[in-house]
Amino acid sequence: NLSPIPLAVRSTCPYCGVGCGVTAMPLPDGAIAIAGDASHPANRGRLCVKGAALGETTSLEGRLLHPALREDGVLRQASWDEALDRVAGGLRAIIDEHGPDAVALYVSGQLLTEDYYVANKLMKGYIGSANIDTNSRLCMSSAVAGHKRAFGADLVPGCYEDFDLADMVVLVGSNTAWCHPILFQRIARLKEARPDVRIVVIDPRRTATCELADLHLPVKPGTDVWLFNGLLSYLARAGVRDAAFIEAHTNGLEPALDAAQVDCSDPLAVARHCRVEPGDLMAFYGGFAATTKVITAFSQGVNQSSAGTDKVNSIINCHLLTGRIGQPGMGPFSITGQPNAMGGREVGGLANMLAAHMDLDNPQHRDTVQTFWSSPRMAAKGGLKAVDLFKAIEEGSVKAVWVIATNPMVSMPDANQVQRALEKCELVVVSDIIASTDTNAFADVLLPALGWGEKDGTVTNSERLISRQRAFLPAPGEARADWRILADVARRLGFDGFDFAGAHEVFDEHARLSAFRNEGTQRRVFNLSGLCGLQAPDYDKLEPVQWPVRRGADGALEGSARLFADRRFAHADGKARFVATAPRAPANPVDPEYPLVLNTGRVRDQWHTMSRTGRAPRLADHTAESFIDMHPQDALLYGVREGELARVSSQWGAMVARVQHGGGIARGSVFVPIHWNGQTASDARVGTVVNPVVDPVSGEPEFKHTPVQVERF
Ligand code: SF4
Repeated sequence: NLSPIPLAVRSTCPYCGVGCGVTAMPLPDGAIAIAGDASHPANRGRLCVKGAALGETTSLEGRLLHPALREDGVLRQASWDEALDRVAGGLRAIIDEHGPDAVALYVSGQLLTEDYYVANKLMKGYIGSANIDTNSRLCMSSAVAGHKRAFGADLVPGCYEDFDLADMVVLVGSNTAWCHPILFQRIARLKEARPDVRIVVIDPRRTATCELADLHLPVKPGTDVWLFNGLLSYLARAGVRDAAFIEAHTNGLEPALDAAQVDCSDPLAVARHCRVEPGDLMAFYGGFAATTKVITAFSQGVNQSSAGTDKVNSIINCHLLTGRIGQPGMGPFSITGQPNAMGGREVGGLANMLAAHMDLDNPQHRDTVQTFWSSPRMAAKGGLKAVDLFKAIEEGSVKAVWVIATNPMVSMPDANQVQRALEKCELVVVSDIIASTDTNAFADVLLPALGWGEKDGTVTNSERLISRQRAFLPAPGEARADWRILADVARRLGFDGFDFAGAHEVFDEHARLSAFRNEGTQRRVFNLSGLCGLQAPDYDKLEPVQWPVRRGADGALEGSARLFADRRFAHADGKARFVATAPRAPANPVDPEYPLVLNTGRVRDQWHTMSRTGRAPRLADHTAESFIDMHPQDALLYGVREGELARVSSQWGAMVARVQHGGGIARGSVFVPIHWNGQTASDARVGTVVNPVVDPVSGEPEFKHTPVQVERF
């Protein structure tokens, strides 16, 4: 008798926002065979090294398998009933004594949409506070804020196919080659097929992405608004504007142009300020002016700034001026960092948003969501954004925090402040898949969550594509889905509305809310009406689809590759907005004590704080330990040598790593990767060094510009 050959399960990679489809098959020896899903539109079977190594990251070594409670300073294993009672009882006592704003959730772009939805429903509609923020605040919130200002809602106009159709691709603040490799390969194939396509990379570092570039503009850190205001001004002077589009479909051009012309009307002055060659700047401006099908894709180098939202809008302004939006092969494109940063945004994952792209500060939206949920209350104002949330914990106004699927002790700026906050917090609950992390060390309650390959749900990638993550492994130990843990606590708090039989029921409620009182409103753009009423078998079979999603007359799902083809935006008047963006320097300038600019980011083969990718030996081959990348002349100047340990310090903290050269860094800057945590031999958390200044609109921290000094260790 032959055993049946097991079928591979189709799922989605849990790392970056490209959102590649994978197939996974458990083998008899316990290994997992991973391959790219040839039918998935985001990657057509291709995987980068991180995705290909997924099978090496699913072992149970180091996993958190049982709930645990801290008693007399020591964690002991507990039953689920004990742990859930402690969480619900602790939250209830604090809410009763200090009000709903005294408790908070801090969640993650690693959560599935269903987890995110239940967390937001519990916090905003039942506890009645908007103190729920997410680590997406650290990577995407400036793009969200920029989209909302320009389009009226957080809407990504284009899709990956536009990269195939473009005649010019501008990559701003994005090391696409390392951080979004499959998208980079797509651009590389475009360049190979059509060598005349122009690739421009705008980045202070000469990264691996520059290998594809016809033109690299190594701008001075923090000068993007000068560069794009200069472009706006140049385009306007050159008459490269879509007058009919501007007249019929936009507002606010004159103030935006006036703001751009104050400092940026002279390209020579812009080149001087951005520290780029005038000829290179003019080549970029001239190329942009002459090319209709141009995509400007941006990522953390734009977003992670105290002027991040203005940087986003300065880019969008250039596309609105030229009408290059909503059509094939053109548009501004936000490259999402995490696999489900977009899904979190759909359900109101940020402290200043409501579910289904509604706004907390809009009374009608609050009423719509509360009516749909039949919930007892509704948060009346935006909650605390990540940096302010941990400040409020340290100050004592927030007394309980539930951290889910993220490691703020490593990933937040001014990570020493996060430690002070967690030490002071009356109740720290952590849901995670790993037993020992820097954040777990401060937990009063640890809750074991399902990980990738064990849980079911959906994620949304950078191009609004909803894909299924599917379980192919049994739940280890007593681990549970995050949405279920949240629902269990909600019921213990005495709340109705959390009796979901499975992830499909959560998804259905999310889809129905998107369509509730939607027709004829500006919210119609975010609409999942075609996905309402999915029963478990259809949810399980759901194919990748881009929202908005409707059903055609034949009952088939109809997704939407692009938005704004009809030139209707989500502001009340249906028009897009130019936003006046006055350039401003990074918040903290260098000085004689801290003369270098610290830039942080990812390396090719690691992900976030390495709790998963750190398990795959072959991923460590690329970069074995943290490092301080600096220019050889700066190393000479500051008395440090390649291969030796050095201390990088700021007024917020210090860390130690080995000096290296060769990362394409310009003089005056250093680069340190974000991944290494405090669980290594030396505490290599760069978050302890990063300044906690945030963008005033988005609340996104300035990870790309902290004044530091480097000295021998
Ligand atoms: Fe995963 Fe991103 Fe690599 Fe695709 S490009 S396999 S989504 S890490």
